[in-house]
Amino acid sequence: MKKSATACVHRYYCCPTEEKPPERMDREPLQWVADGGVPKPLLQCVPGRLLGKDGEPLMQKRKMSPVQAMELCRENDALSEKDIWAFAEQLRENGDKGLIGYLMETNEARFAAKVAKAAGAKAERQRDKMTRVQILENAAGGAIRCTCAEPDECYHQMKAQLRRNSLDGPFQRLVYTALKVGRCKKEGSVALTGESDSGKTFLLRPLGIIYRAYKPPDPEKAGNYPLMTLPGKEVICFNDFAYEWDGKLP
Ligand SMILES: [Zn+2]
Repeated sequence: MKKSATACVHRYYCCPTEEKPPERMDREPLQWVADGGVPKPLLQCVPGRLLGKDGEPLMQKRKMSPVQAMELCRENDALSEKDIWAFAEQLRENGDKGLIGYLMETNEARFAAKVAKAAGAKAERQRDKMTRVQILENAAGGAIRCTCAEPDECYHQMKAQLRRNSLDGPFQRLVYTALKVGRCKKEGSVALTGESDSGKTFLLRPLGIIYRAYKPPDPEKAGNYPLMTLPGKEVICFNDFAYEWDGKLP
């Protein structure tokens, strides 16, 4: 019998699996020896690599399938290549080599990209079902955190900027209403005018952090197709918006 086939026989009769626990195994078979000597119990012929430290055959684990690997990574928030390796290594240290075994046999960069894509797709779908106001509430509830060295510094700066321009209150109301009613409604847009460097962009910047915002110009390559990146956006921010002034508001 070929060496690989012999190893299969040893595995089949001697190494338990998840479906076939040790107590359900038949370890009686004997191995006949080539020189015609006395047959030995098969268990005694099992190669060392199939045995654990205690001399007992190791439990065979079924190879992890791509879907199992993906689910495991997603459930444990291992979404980047680096995190996936770290997580696999942590499992290995705890005696579970399933994921690391899978990674060794796959293109891990491609696998990581798929895991991230699958996780992102779910988040995007959930997001698509949310209204702008819900997204705002979600951000305010902690989904987006202020990263200023002094907590809420940006908020206080914005409030001060609005107060200086007598806009504290009306500005927030107008922006909130525009977010709520959306396009095609009279209150659906807010125009902020003023001298350059007077803080207009600073006041509107959070919208670009909280929302998927369309900010022209479109990427360089899309130059021939204006508004190409507009689909799927939740707010539109026109900076330096130019119009002809006839003394009347549009
Ligand atoms: Zn801040």
